[in-house]
Amino acid sequence: MDTTPSLSITNKTTTRFGREDLMRIFTGPENRKDQVVIKQLISSLANGMHESLNRYLGHNLFGDYEACQKKYTNSFINEFPEMNVGNALEELIADVAPHSVNVSSPYYSGHMTSAIPYFMVILKAIVAALNQNVVKLETSGIVTAIEREVIGKIHRLVFQNSDQFYQEHIQKKRSCLGCFTEDGTLANLQALWIARNGCFPPRNEFFSIGKQGLMTAQKEYNLCKSVVLVSRLSHYSLQKIGDVLGIGNENIIRIDVDRKNRMDIDHLCEIIDSIKASKTTNILAIVATAGTTECGTIDPLHAISEICKKEKIHFHVDAAWGGPTLLSDKYAGLLEGIQLADSVTIDGHKQLYMPMTCGMVFFRQPLVSDAVIYYANYINRPESLDLGVKTISGSREANSLILSSALKILGKKGYGALIDHGIETAGLLADEILKRDCFQLVSAPVLNILNYRYLPSEIARGHEPETMDFGEDTNKLLNEINLVIHREQRKQGQSFVSRTILNLANDPHKEMVVLRSVIMNPMTTIDVLRLILDEQEQIYAANFGEYK
Ligand SMILES: *Cc1c(COP(=O)(O)O)cnc(C)c1O
Repeated sequence: MDTTPSLSITNKTTTRFGREDLMRIFTGPENRKDQVVIKQLISSLANGMHESLNRYLGHNLFGDYEACQKKYTNSFINEFPEMNVGNALEELIADVAPHSVNVSSPYYSGHMTSAIPYFMVILKAIVAALNQNVVKLETSGIVTAIEREVIGKIHRLVFQNSDQFYQEHIQKKRSCLGCFTEDGTLANLQALWIARNGCFPPRNEFFSIGKQGLMTAQKEYNLCKSVVLVSRLSHYSLQKIGDVLGIGNENIIRIDVDRKNRMDIDHLCEIIDSIKASKTTNILAIVATAGTTECGTIDPLHAISEICKKEKIHFHVDAAWGGPTLLSDKYAGLLEGIQLADSVTIDGHKQLYMPMTCGMVFFRQPLVSDAVIYYANYINRPESLDLGVKTISGSREANSLILSSALKILGKKGYGALIDHGIETAGLLADEILKRDCFQLVSAPVLNILNYRYLPSEIARGHEPETMDFGEDTNKLLNEINLVIHREQRKQGQSFVSRTILNLANDPHKEMVVLRSVIMNPMTTIDVLRLILDEQEQIYAANFGEYK
């Protein structure tokens, strides 16, 4: 049976709108046809969206954005209902799907957004149907308990505390082992907000930074400045956070990276020494990244944790990308040291394969969030079970239900298999790049992200394969070549890797345009990746043939 709904749109015109119309729209499908359309759509999505969406998705991975810009310029809201629900859904699919970015294609391997398991769509629909609001117990009930349990599970994965610890804290009112946020940016903000407030405990006339602000807090503690130390490859959310926390983003100090794109510990120590010598600057936190967005590399977690311990500095690990590696028996060891963090960010919509969007942050100490408690008379009262008292977000969807079920469906083994596929396929791609004489591996994969660039064999000849420095003019040419390859491949719309600029030598003249592959779709195999490289070779030949 063909389950595809027909895509005919029959416009509905009305000139009056009464209470019965409102009830008709609000409470359930208006007519038989709507019922049929909704059932067919939902069942085709539920049975695996790849097949149903692929009927409509365009032949170009990106659709035609310019055409969309021209089309969507109507600023009037229609006075009366224009169409039935069934028609609106049909229109949505017919108009939007062909132009939406086909992130679930195996040939789309450029970003941290990818295919998700089919059942996630159904879980998301159930969450919407229940419409629980996790901000407070009175609108979330059981979800609060489930959310606390799933936070406990991931907390245990990260911090590996005892049975007794989890027995005590998972459902304990005062304890907060972590929280859900909308995304990784807000998870990092939540962590650094807590770190900042924790640096200025009450004393004398000073009550709290939340109440009196950063200026008063610094004055009380005879400080002029507060900084956060991060690596050059840290996520740009930290720049926003410097702004929001009122310390200024020039005080998010970027430590150099070593040859393997990890935070350089010697440089970190130098910076800390100079800050300490000034005596007027406070280090709110050091942020290590476990799975940098650009290279997938992991900062030396153990070494940084020791420095934090010695200097009594809050240690935050931004594992928005790499955190779920802990679910792989084979590769969890790459994150050794993460258990020593004070706080850890993990994104659900990245390598936990949840639908957009879900961030989480976890705290080693169950009471550390007391630094940011907010009460409101009408909902959240002291000693409240309401999850909203300690989170930057207010109203929030019951995302934890999705993660809770997904963990049951996939288990550690299922998630582990996804992680292993990504890491191992990235390794195969690195081998393939090394084998071809017109590509250069710029940043070898640690997890499932790698950077490379097109390097014409005429230029490579006579140089060691690891050479990155070909002089300023040649580097400019290489940047141009890689920009064009990226742009043309994107334009052709058959496959996609992303592009970034790496500065391995910490020297602006040596900025390198590189191609970035992120492998998280289990359908993205080495054969698919070989075809992507082939296409890049063809684009070079077509555009720069004269250099041959
Ligand atoms: C993706 C990412 C973030 C931010 O996540 P959003 O969910 O996009 O806000 C933060 N840090 C790292 C390392 C990331 O990869």
